[in-house]
Amino acid sequence: MGNSIKNIDIVYPNLKQGGVYCLAPLIFYNIANNIKNWNCNLVYLDEGRLKSSLIGFTVQYELDCYNIIDMLNKNNISLSRSREQIVFAGGPVINNNPHTMEDFFDFLVLGEGEEIFSKILKIYESSRSKDDFLKKISTKKGVYVPGINEPSYSYSKNFDDVPYPLEQPLPKDASNTRKYVFGESFILEIERGCPFMCKFCPMPFFYQKVKYRSLKKIKKIVDLGIRINKRTKVVIYSASFVHPERKRILKYLLSKNLSFSVPSLKAEIVDQELMNLIAQGGQKTITLAPECNERLRKKIAKMTGDMAFLDAVRYANNSIIKNLKLYFMIGLPGQTTKDLKETIKLIKKLKTEFAGRIYVSINPFVPKLNTLFAGHKFDKVEIKQQAKFLKAELSKLSVRHKIASIATAEKIWRIAHAKTFEFAGKR
Ligand code: SF4
Repeated sequence: MGNSIKNIDIVYPNLKQGGVYCLAPLIFYNIANNIKNWNCNLVYLDEGRLKSSLIGFTVQYELDCYNIIDMLNKNNISLSRSREQIVFAGGPVINNNPHTMEDFFDFLVLGEGEEIFSKILKIYESSRSKDDFLKKISTKKGVYVPGINEPSYSYSKNFDDVPYPLEQPLPKDASNTRKYVFGESFILEIERGCPFMCKFCPMPFFYQKVKYRSLKKIKKIVDLGIRINKRTKVVIYSASFVHPERKRILKYLLSKNLSFSVPSLKAEIVDQELMNLIAQGGQKTITLAPECNERLRKKIAKMTGDMAFLDAVRYANNSIIKNLKLYFMIGLPGQTTKDLKETIKLIKKLKTEFAGRIYVSINPFVPKLNTLFAGHKFDKVEIKQQAKFLKAELSKLSVRHKIASIATAEKIWRIAHAKTFEFAGKR
């Protein structure tokens, strides 16, 4: 398709204030720009326009599917695959159900995209036409071309060899943390996948083997990343923050005078030393996800006992952590009023134990494909009753809390299971 400069649009179909911290667009931006004659244009729902003949969307959230349709319409790009441009997608939503949006895309990238992406660009360079290109890439594992082949997933063999997105552009006003939640941070991904097998989570299906970046590689990434981007803060990305070298990673960041934040903590891996390191890194809030009471938690194969959460809170008290965020779910399979009462008891104990401020987030459980609960029905009526009960009890305890929208969760459930996007219904 010609020898001149090739352009690609990599699209985050939601607001830029979240999109600048999404790793997927950064990965593809770096890969494309590091190949001779390629130029990547980052586009967000609220900034930039689609102008290349190769357009790739990362679909991180089910509701973004609506935004994708809007963006294509707004940019006068036909929704039909007979259009001139080549429009493709990847990301967690596509990986979990490649069929929902397949009518709108010429191809889908499944699994980890890094290795296959540069091959796709090379094939594009040498292809005579759109048809020729699609036929050629359909022979590659991890590329699903609807109508030509069947979905297959490809994964990188050695995590350390996967190119890291070192260049992480941020807008000029990124220091405004009201708008850009992580401010001027460098994103550091240390692991992929999760060694736990919670029945409700698609993560163990997606990454059948958890991958840890080596400490040596992480140090190298940090050194280069903060120098190239002139950052003094690091945000650690990982599903469960169980990297065997997690303490040494944090110590290394401290030795470089970097502040940092860590994701939600698995309570059973927390000890006083880890909590102190997190506090030393400047983090004031820790997040724990008990999900529900202990009895039900074990049934859904999240094996953390209540005691681990209470211990974590005591460690937090001994450090300078000021806030505790707790995540719970309603609408879980088999969840009864007895479970909700036990959940309230746990929250009460944690509130009594913790010296700082507590915040509780309650989310309707959305059954996802590729989990043991895929067939569980989203019961709006029952979830509403559970939400009402918890709201009343938490108000009595004077615990700050928020219950996420049940209507939105139901919409996400419909899209996640839809055979075609039309089945998901209107926005
Ligand atoms: S819910 Fe968290 S701990 Fe459980 S499998 Fe998923 S990522 Fe791992």
